Amino acid sequence: MKSYKIALIPGDGIGTAVTEAAWEVLARAARGAGFGLDGTSFPWSCDFYEKTGAMMPADGIETLRGFDAILLGAVGWPKRVPDSVSLHGLLLPIRKAFVPYANIRPHRLLPGVEGPLRAGSFDILCIRENTEGEYAGAGGRVHNGTADEVAVETSIFTRKGVERILRFGFEQARKRRGKLASVTKSNAQKYSMVFWDEITARLAADYPDIEVANYHIDAMAARMVMAPESLDVVVASNLFGDILTDLGAAIQGGLGFAASANINPERNVPSMFEPVHGSAPDIAHLGIANPIAAIWSGAMMLEHLGEAGAAKAVMTAIEAATARRIGTEPGRHKTQDITAAVLSALG
Ligand code: NAD
Repeated sequence: MKSYKIALIPGDGIGTAVTEAAWEVLARAARGAGFGLDGTSFPWSCDFYEKTGAMMPADGIETLRGFDAILLGAVGWPKRVPDSVSLHGLLLPIRKAFVPYANIRPHRLLPGVEGPLRAGSFDILCIRENTEGEYAGAGGRVHNGTADEVAVETSIFTRKGVERILRFGFEQARKRRGKLASVTKSNAQKYSMVFWDEITARLAADYPDIEVANYHIDAMAARMVMAPESLDVVVASNLFGDILTDLGAAIQGGLGFAASANINPERNVPSMFEPVHGSAPDIAHLGIANPIAAIWSGAMMLEHLGEAGAAKAVMTAIEAATARRIGTEPGRHKTQDITAAVLSALG
């Protein structure tokens, strides 16, 4: 029987509960579809940091390298460990090591979920460039603490980086409804964003079947609120994608439904799948974390592994639960009840 090696990093707070829920659902989906999921759980977290002085062991990245995928819950417990330590000690090293240059997030309203918009159905796949651009970390400060202090932070856009993320977007559009929206601000940023637009236009010639539209980031923000149904695949730089995907999470009903994948399409290293939300210390011990975002991220993992049938089964089961309004309102159902509803729909 085919089997996949999955590294589980539940992390902190609600990360543990939602990862457990997702794993239960994924394991059942795998059994139903006739393949195996061989999970190894790693206790890397803020607790681990307090015990050992590090968020993960020195050979943590090398350990993860041998897996087919990583399923992560959430990391952070700011009352005890500064976010800068937990982020830089675990999430960022994984992202750096495996160059998951495509951060993808699906935004659509699940049945039974009421988002803040009057708009009816929409189904958007946001693809955020995840390795360079505005978050490249190039910059510095001089004359610190004086009246003459200067801070400079430079965006880095490389031909390789922009081409690969756009090409990934075109490929995704081909698998969906054939529309790609490229987001820049080329009226104001005449070097990097004009460069991005030029590459979009050049690649469009390779994808004559894809309908391409260019939007400025401000116009796209408005469009996601006013006419989200007009969008299919949206590709944006690191900063613009960061902002648009939070907007996407909001219009789909909130963090309980926001799933994500950090993908390296070259597939020679593990990609990482995680709900967008954090460890939610405010509700961590109440048993009311919504596991749907984590389960949906798990479905994206199955899809990435090539198990499209099982991924579809998980999504259908999530939708069956939310259509019964289970998990659709914050705090109304317990994590275990939402998980049970998804499991029962999965059969
Ligand atoms: P958060 O996402 O943890 O919580 C924001 C709000 O949304 C809270 O009120 C929380 O109760 C609610 N919420 C989030 N997920 C929910 C769910 N599944 N079900 C029900 N309610 C949910 O963001 P925060 O409070 O700003 O951050 C808390 C910690 O998480 C911090 O340490 C932060 O750095 C970390 N964080 C980690 C990640 C990650 O691991 N990828 C992402 C974001 C934040």
